[in-house]
Amino acid sequence: MSHLPTEQLADLTVHSNSEAREGLVPPSPAPSSPRTRRHYSIDTELVFTETTDQYRSSSTPIYQTATFKQESLSNMGEYDYTRSGNPTRTHLERHLARIIGGATRALTVTSGMTALDVITRLLKPGDEVIAGDDLYGGTNRLLKYLSTSGGIVAHHVDTTNVDAVRAVVNEKTAMILLESPTNPLIKIANIPAITALVHEKNPNALVVADNTMLSPMLMAPLELGADIVYESGTKYLSGHHDIMAGVIAVKNNAIGDRLFFVINASGCGLAPFEAWLLERGIKTLGVRLEKQQHNAQLIAEFLESAGFKVRYPGLKSHPQYALHWAQASGAGAVLSLETGSVPLSERIIEGTHIWGISVSFGCVNSLISMPCKMSHASIDAKTRAERDFPEDLIRLCVGIENPDDLIDDLKTALIKAGAVKINNDGSLTRLNL
Ligand code: PLP
Repeated sequence: MSHLPTEQLADLTVHSNSEAREGLVPPSPAPSSPRTRRHYSIDTELVFTETTDQYRSSSTPIYQTATFKQESLSNMGEYDYTRSGNPTRTHLERHLARIIGGATRALTVTSGMTALDVITRLLKPGDEVIAGDDLYGGTNRLLKYLSTSGGIVAHHVDTTNVDAVRAVVNEKTAMILLESPTNPLIKIANIPAITALVHEKNPNALVVADNTMLSPMLMAPLELGADIVYESGTKYLSGHHDIMAGVIAVKNNAIGDRLFFVINASGCGLAPFEAWLLERGIKTLGVRLEKQQHNAQLIAEFLESAGFKVRYPGLKSHPQYALHWAQASGAGAVLSLETGSVPLSERIIEGTHIWGISVSFGCVNSLISMPCKMSHASIDAKTRAERDFPEDLIRLCVGIENPDDLIDDLKTALIKAGAVKINNDGSLTRLNL
């Protein structure tokens, strides 16, 4: 029986076994198996997986093959072509469906941006999309492309303000994209409230949450009401900055089938070796993130006590502290600070040694960056100014090193840059610019 919507089935041109089968049987990989066994806590689920491997291998083998031989002309077997499905990818996807709160199916693709690309292919010309005004630069770039070349109307509003969202939702709204915390201004979107209002005003609109900043370990947007959650597996899930990957999860298998159709049609499913590396990374997500958060909290407190404006939801001074903790179980490991001067920020960044000057986050190594010149440079300066984006903003993405070493390295860079002076008792005083 087909799981594809009829209008999409009508579009299918039959070229190969995998495509021929789409109309007859569930797509491969089949939707994740129902939760028949006991569900353990997430830190157990991250490492506990079951397979049907013939040799009971502890690590799922990498099926580094493009094709699978059929047993006979009439018996196609579970897999025929890796673009459509591969056992290493299936194992990963079923594991993800267990650890992503509220998910019934997970799909893996070649990057976080690919995940969003696949999701936005559910849109058609004339559809309206609501997205934040402090959103990842790549998301902004893709939406701009869809607005200029795909007939999509994109509204950028402050999605951390429920009333701003309420003002733009209408019957043409097909999708709303949420990030929380936002990157890099660390603002919090009220996911349950926005989801409820969007669904009330337009039940067909899909609420899509980018959970890259927190990972399934710290937040479950599907349980908060979102229809689709995606994240860059390049970040916390893999944890070592050695692969690119994207993950999409849904709680409605009909939507999952439509997304799988796009992945199979365009050939952007995650390759077996990357799937294996991502699966390996997921097993240490719990311990990595716990240490990263612990370090991030100490660093945020150090910088705040030195007199800087620090944005981190682990600090009580965060204006949306209560909202964040009502929907997430941790503060994550990304924080940002303002120094008051672009050249000062540049000197601080260049004065660090352990902190790698790099885009991205979620790695075991600590990274420092200046978003307006790096990850968010694709948002032009005028738009950044309109969105109150501080040009001097420094983003810190905290790793698993010793926190004293990280703080010492920052302290040295702050002193060398002329941002603070050290007092006789070892405390720091912020210098006026
Ligand atoms: N979402 C967020 C919040 C990100 O920061 C990024 C990348 O930095 C992406 C999505 C895109 O992920 P990828 O780089 O894996 O395509």
